[in-house]
Amino acid sequence: MKASDIYIQPVEASWLKQNNLTLDVLRLDAIHKIVSGNKWFKLKHYLKHAKANKQHTIATFGGAWSNHIVATAFAAKEAGFKSVGIIRGEEPVTLSATLQNALHYGMQLIYVTRDAYRDKQRILKTYANNNWYWINEGGYGKPGVKGITDIFKTHDASMYDYLVTAVGTGTTLAGMVKACNKHQKAIGVSSMKMNIALQDAVNNLLPKRLHNHFTIVHDYHFGGYGKHLPVLIDFMNTVYHQHHLQLDFIYTAKTLYAIQDLAKKSFFKQGSKLLMLHTGGLQGNRSLAAKVLAF
Ligand SMILES: *Cc1c(COP(=O)(O)O)cnc(C)c1O
Repeated sequence: MKASDIYIQPVEASWLKQNNLTLDVLRLDAIHKIVSGNKWFKLKHYLKHAKANKQHTIATFGGAWSNHIVATAFAAKEAGFKSVGIIRGEEPVTLSATLQNALHYGMQLIYVTRDAYRDKQRILKTYANNNWYWINEGGYGKPGVKGITDIFKTHDASMYDYLVTAVGTGTTLAGMVKACNKHQKAIGVSSMKMNIALQDAVNNLLPKRLHNHFTIVHDYHFGGYGKHLPVLIDFMNTVYHQHHLQLDFIYTAKTLYAIQDLAKKSFFKQGSKLLMLHTGGLQGNRSLAAKVLAF
């Protein structure tokens, strides 16, 4: 797994030409089949910090199909740590493919009810004596932001007018905002239904001078986090056939759909160059019924 596995894929489509736009996709997903592109970068500095502080176990939170859980299990093992995942919901009779992978990477799984899961402080208290190194759900935090800005040290994005990413916790968007120069616009596409608190969540990761130097669009959640509609699945299959680009239904499909729709609505200035981060997440497609996707 190396940062040099990332590459740029240009996309050609009539809806881009008609609006005099170009679109490149930064394939962060190319670093690993299971470990989400952006998650590995977000985890990097947490693990460094844990090492420097002589910690032995990494603990974090997530759902049964969480990209962050499986990425943490993998990255922790790779760096020589034990890992613990606090999993939302009762232990299922059949483990999700994601949790099976996490177990395979040596993660200890602890199931908590959905109610108990919400009270993170209480969970931290329960396990306070274990001396674990805790990472926020989704890797939210400044070390996560730092890992994202590292991407742009090796992959120059200064020629683009718009940088676009999917938004979960907002950590990736914050890193993108930090990497932008003054003339560039950072756009985040929320995968959740009207999560207005995101604006502050991103601002809290940024220095004051960069507060609100980004736009979050909330119109492309397709029913909410983890939800999808047939039109989104059709879009994913079309994109795969036309561009040989695989997307995940939770984040990147909604993001590219948003880019296409916004382009048709003349949201982007004519003549602009766009860069979309492909943040990965393809492993989560395994939660869909067989044969729904063409890939
Ligand atoms: C986690 C995730 C995101 C969201 O990243 P944040 O930094 O939490 O906003 C986007 N895309 C994919 C594929 C992810 O797994």
